[in-house]
Amino acid sequence: MQGKNLRFALLCGALFAAFVQTSWAADPVPAAGHEIRRAGDTPSAKGSDKWFVGNVRQDSIAKADQHNQNGITVVTFEPGARTFWHLHPAGQRLLVTFGKGLVGTADGKVDVVRPGDYVWCPPGVRHWHGATPDTAMSHIALTNTPANGPSTEWFEALTDEEYARFAASAVDPLKK
Ligand code: MN
Repeated sequence: MQGKNLRFALLCGALFAAFVQTSWAADPVPAAGHEIRRAGDTPSAKGSDKWFVGNVRQDSIAKADQHNQNGITVVTFEPGARTFWHLHPAGQRLLVTFGKGLVGTADGKVDVVRPGDYVWCPPGVRHWHGATPDTAMSHIALTNTPANGPSTEWFEALTDEEYARFAASAVDPLKK
């Protein structure tokens, strides 16, 4: 009797598992929901000379909206190109995707970054980012947009002298 009950229980369990699996598999995939912006829908833009030194290309991926607080932009710096000094009131994340770049803060610290490196720029920290003198760099910038006000506060240009000095003194993790 106990054996029968056990077999019945196992059978019920197996049937239930099969039912669950089948009903999940049969669930229709929602037709609406995805929103795909295709490559080329948004033209590339040249980085403004009010904010960048040298040739910089900006490809906007997404603007901040009610679902996403990040503006997402692919930024490509030609060799020697860099941002002006600036800060982000709500912070910024950088994911390096190509080349060899530099990130620096107002305390004079400068780091070499390469593809796969991830940089968190905390709110209010004055900084700059760009290519190295001889090699281009691309990064994806995810810039938090505060509830009120712009996501970036811009200051003066990084002079050629400052940039050359920072590039020469940058900490390169591959040359320790
Ligand atoms: Mn920044």
